[in-house]
Amino acid sequence: MKTTARVVVIGGGVVGVSTLYHLAKLGWSDCVLIERKELTSGSTWHAAGLLPLFNLSYSVGKLHQYSVDLYPSLEAETELNVGFSNVSNIRLATTRDRMDEYKYYAGVAKTIGVEVNFLTPDEVKAIWPLAEMQNVLGAIQHPADGYIQPADLTQALAKGARQRGATIYRNTTVTDITQKANGEWVVTTDQGEITCEHVVSATGSFARQTGAMVGLDIPVVPVEHQYIVTEQHPAIMERRKQGLPEMGVLRESDASWYMREEAGGLLLGPYEIGAPACYVKGPAANSEYELFPDALERLEPYILSAIERVPAFGEVGVKKVYNGAIAYTPDGSPIVGPAWDKKNFWLNEGHSFGITAAGGAGWQLAQWIVEGEPSIDMMGVDPRRFGDYAGEGYLIEKNEEAYAKVFTVHYPDEEREAARPLRRTPCYDRMKALGAVFGSVFGWERPNWFAPEGYELTDADLDRPDVILNHNHPDVPGEPIREKWSFRRSNYFEHVGNECRHVTQHVGIQDMSAFAKCMISGPGAEDWLNGLLSNVVPKKTGRVTLSYLLTDIGGVRAEFTVYKKGPQQYYLVSAGALERHDQDYLLKALPTDGSVRFERLTTAMGVLVVAGPKSRDVLQKLTHADLSNGAFPWLTGQSVSLGTAKVDLLRVNFIGELGFEIHHPIEMQNYIFDKIMAAGAEFQIKPFGIRAMTAMAIEKSYKLIPRELSIEYAALESGLDRFVSFKKPAFKGREGLLARKEAGLKWQFVTLEVFGVTDADARGSEAIFRDGELVGRATSGGYGWRCGKSLALAMVGPEHAAVGTELEIVILGEPHRAVVIPDSPFDPDNNALRS
Ligand SMILES: Cc1cc2nc3c(=O)[nH]c(=O)nc-3n(C[C@H](O)[C@H](O)[C@H](O)COP(=O)(O)OP(=O)(O)OC[C@H]3O[C@@H](n4cnc5c(N)ncnc54)[C@H](O)[C@@H]3O)c2cc1C
Repeated sequence: MKTTARVVVIGGGVVGVSTLYHLAKLGWSDCVLIERKELTSGSTWHAAGLLPLFNLSYSVGKLHQYSVDLYPSLEAETELNVGFSNVSNIRLATTRDRMDEYKYYAGVAKTIGVEVNFLTPDEVKAIWPLAEMQNVLGAIQHPADGYIQPADLTQALAKGARQRGATIYRNTTVTDITQKANGEWVVTTDQGEITCEHVVSATGSFARQTGAMVGLDIPVVPVEHQYIVTEQHPAIMERRKQGLPEMGVLRESDASWYMREEAGGLLLGPYEIGAPACYVKGPAANSEYELFPDALERLEPYILSAIERVPAFGEVGVKKVYNGAIAYTPDGSPIVGPAWDKKNFWLNEGHSFGITAAGGAGWQLAQWIVEGEPSIDMMGVDPRRFGDYAGEGYLIEKNEEAYAKVFTVHYPDEEREAARPLRRTPCYDRMKALGAVFGSVFGWERPNWFAPEGYELTDADLDRPDVILNHNHPDVPGEPIREKWSFRRSNYFEHVGNECRHVTQHVGIQDMSAFAKCMISGPGAEDWLNGLLSNVVPKKTGRVTLSYLLTDIGGVRAEFTVYKKGPQQYYLVSAGALERHDQDYLLKALPTDGSVRFERLTTAMGVLVVAGPKSRDVLQKLTHADLSNGAFPWLTGQSVSLGTAKVDLLRVNFIGELGFEIHHPIEMQNYIFDKIMAAGAEFQIKPFGIRAMTAMAIEKSYKLIPRELSIEYAALESGLDRFVSFKKPAFKGREGLLARKEAGLKWQFVTLEVFGVTDADARGSEAIFRDGELVGRATSGGYGWRCGKSLALAMVGPEHAAVGTELEIVILGEPHRAVVIPDSPFDPDNNALRS
């Protein structure tokens, strides 16, 4: 056995082998894969092999697309047949919301470059004559996809890796992993030790056990998944005799199952409600090619629905049931990228569609390791999108939920219920009493919007379709139902509008305590931050700037508000959802000489936002500090007392009004909250939520990660010119950004006014055309209540970005005229912010 390697990949399922293959393809042949049993003996061998391209996430969609392009090409390279059946994939729709989902998805597919066709029921019937078409409104079809033989695919990837010099050790178990003081890793196996630069964990159902070896609580717990294979059916055998094409993969989305032909019979795989988490403590040491006992009783409603749709399924006996472990994460997407807190430890775990994703995930992870950066925005699969809160109990509830919701309509405003409410700020109950309808981010409860007193939807309002998956609203026992999710303007639309109007006319209060916060301090802090971030770090105490962490080639990785709180003290604030991600980059970049200190403050500090023309009047009643514009201008901060509470007041906000963020010790939150509400009563203070904030931010053309800001777009393409200081001699990404500028920018951020909208605003991901040619994609969208316009933020080719350019945006299948307008349609001169 080798004793050294550049990379050790742990796990010989399709995902680990694909990672090895791609490392070798990038020229790193000195890589080793270790598998405790035989290749594919974990989850890979029993997978149904389907390769669904369908995915509403831009990043996961691109990974899937790469796989489907790669797999058929492997035979020419390795002379091994991967059993790719390009039979296409048809997804049925029986409800209007499902059709909306498909129409929305068509925009994502268009911008990724995935071909998708819309089919009528007659067209589906022509391809799938064994299916009845009752209740079918239509369908989408991916002509490029189909299914594959997972074991053959893995062997082909293994051969391709070996041909390029990589080594695979089977029947070898990793028992320990340690990092030496010089950063090298030592991987201990039952056959010896290997010292290496990088470790990749691709261990499927064993993820948590592998993580435990290095002290990582990896948010993966598998769930049981079953599929049924029937005996041969005469009608299918007859089709084969006649040389007719295979009928392809059929997905009854609204009843949560897939079906395809298998050896002259049928294969049915439901995603049922009630499937239990499994292997919570990991599989047994001797686990290999393991299946669980059948649990067909759970599948009964799904089987009945399948028989209704395809009567032939009920006409033949069951040949075999496969019940295996399928790895899950709380949101159902895999975990691909660097581990937090550990340098050069990488994760390719949590794959529930691992056969489909393996190609793309291996490709991007290998690029990340070898070149230091992936080429696709991987935020949707980044391992750091979950935090410390995601422990075993949380994972069991959330992962079971994610499994049960594989086929639910993925409404853009959906707020899933499991494992909530978990992280509550002190003012949670007060906000709730004021009518808050909560959403969840990074485990925190945050008011999305506020319902009027006594407001409740009835069954008639909910208009739930009569299908197995009819979940279109939050369902919490004992709680009134106050919102219905939709791709269109829903019941809360007008209430959000009222919040926006109220804030802009009077004053509002918002809880933003979920913000990620940390203190960077020490004698080296200023220089270190200046070398890391794009903007100049504030020189004077009390100044606030917005600054970005760029990639080496000038893409945007993270955004920070930087407040100089005192000499050598910088308080950094970033998005709550990105806490672990953003802070991990800071921590890994810290100098080792002790000159810079990092202190995590997220749970120590709360944030209340008071904004609107009367915000100064409200707060002035509570402090002796002079809050006048001259004494306390925009983009400054001060430590002041509000009543008896000592807080830091920052004159910034994300809605474009006069406003203050109040950063305070979390235990003082309710004291401060009550003071503000009492002082604000005479000014009609009211709470507002995230949805109003988002609508108002769009009116200011404010940009967000990972929408208009991403590693794929250069900071200057995203319009961050004001926040990038080329006067500084050096900062991360400076040279790469300049080189991109020199070579010519490919995209430009624009604000669009969208015309002819009646009930569906842009949401982001819509395709944008000019004279019939695809020229860009929307990144955000919504209705601007203060300017009275339907708006979209978008990235388009620079030649299409001039103000006044006439474009077309397709929203839920409907083309709309869209015109490039100047940024910040509300208050372009920032008069309100500066007032
Ligand atoms: C019934 C069923 C049907 C499915 N159908 C599909 C489908 O149609 N399409 C699709 O895309 N996906 C499907 N899946 C999901 C798919 O099987 C998985 O996503 C995929 O196999 C995951 O591959 P992996 O390499 O991550 O994990 P695995 O295949 O489980 O590989 C992990 C490997 O790591 C090894 N390992 C763990 N710990 C160690 C250690 N300490 N030392 C050495 N080796 C170690 C294990 O032995 C194992 O071989 C299905 C799953 C199930 C259960």
